[in-house]
Amino acid sequence: MSKTHNTDVLIIGAGPAGYTAAIYAARANLKPILVMGPQPGGQLMITTDVENYPGFENVIQGPWLMDQMQAQAKHVGVPCIFDIITDVDVTQRPFVCKSESGDTYIAKTIIICTGAQAKWLGLESEKHFRGFGVSACATCDGFFFKNKEVAVIGGGNSAVEEAMYLTHHASKVYLIHRRDQLKAEKILQDRLFKNPKIVPLWNRQVLAIEGEEMPTRVTHLQLADAKGAPAERIALDGVFVAIGHSPTTAIFQGKIDLDENGYILTNSRLETSMSGIFAAGDVQDHIYRQAVTAAGQGCMAALEVERFLSQ
Ligand code: NAP
Repeated sequence: MSKTHNTDVLIIGAGPAGYTAAIYAARANLKPILVMGPQPGGQLMITTDVENYPGFENVIQGPWLMDQMQAQAKHVGVPCIFDIITDVDVTQRPFVCKSESGDTYIAKTIIICTGAQAKWLGLESEKHFRGFGVSACATCDGFFFKNKEVAVIGGGNSAVEEAMYLTHHASKVYLIHRRDQLKAEKILQDRLFKNPKIVPLWNRQVLAIEGEEMPTRVTHLQLADAKGAPAERIALDGVFVAIGHSPTTAIFQGKIDLDENGYILTNSRLETSMSGIFAAGDVQDHIYRQAVTAAGQGCMAALEVERFLSQ
């Protein structure tokens, strides 16, 4: 039978931002409810080694880190509910949210932590080697490619920045773009072209990523030339896909202000355009996109909710 849940603060999404917001809100006695959504744990569930989340001397695994965050949220009394919010009525106070299970969540405030998803090329081989040489985050995984050869796929600001970042680790970075002109800002392009470690390959489409098993690792990239030159096969160790991200904001469209790419617009206090609704993590941050920054924003949003409710 469907239920109605009442809370001071409903947290939507269970990545680092959502769990951190939940922990802080619970410790402020706001009795938060966390609705975990379709992929509890978020992007870290498809990451393997994590070496840049502070507090751990040795490499940890993304899914393990998220299990720990969930356990910590439960430990401070947060109900972490397997459900998906499908509709948010922002015209009423308190807010009324409907969910896939048929339950209703009535909340004085909401913290949106629904995150973003990296866009992928959609190749079977890309899926197979994800976490084993294929990544969508150079800051997270670049370190594992010291003195190795890698490729970045894409032609926007992210691809150029990822390629530049990877030159701090890799010996050679191919920038593979489907056209003969980058979409990235001119200033970034100028820096890219001056970097001797970066080799742009134009008009190329990725056909497949090849590799070995036991241990699973990437060894080659198959490329087609859009201008009709023969297909080629280059040897490398890693492939970074940087063709954009999609924030998970469909249910908020037309209800709170989003930017032209669908990210939630917030001020520096993480308030959205709707009073009482806050957003934290990758759903409103297309620049830093790190677990630690998302967690920090989750904390900020919970502190702001506490302030908001005490006014
Ligand atoms: P983006 O600007 O949308 O660029 C995506 C790139 O990937 C484009 O070059 C696109 O090719 C290519 N692409 C898309 N789908 C592809 C596919 N299926 N196969 C091959 N290539 C594909 O994404 P982004 O670079 O992640 O940037 C997103 C937003 O964040 C932008 O507004 C950007 O300015 C901003 N951003 C800003 C900064 C900064 O200010 N420092 C840093 C990062 C991102 P085409 O060029 O042919 O369309």
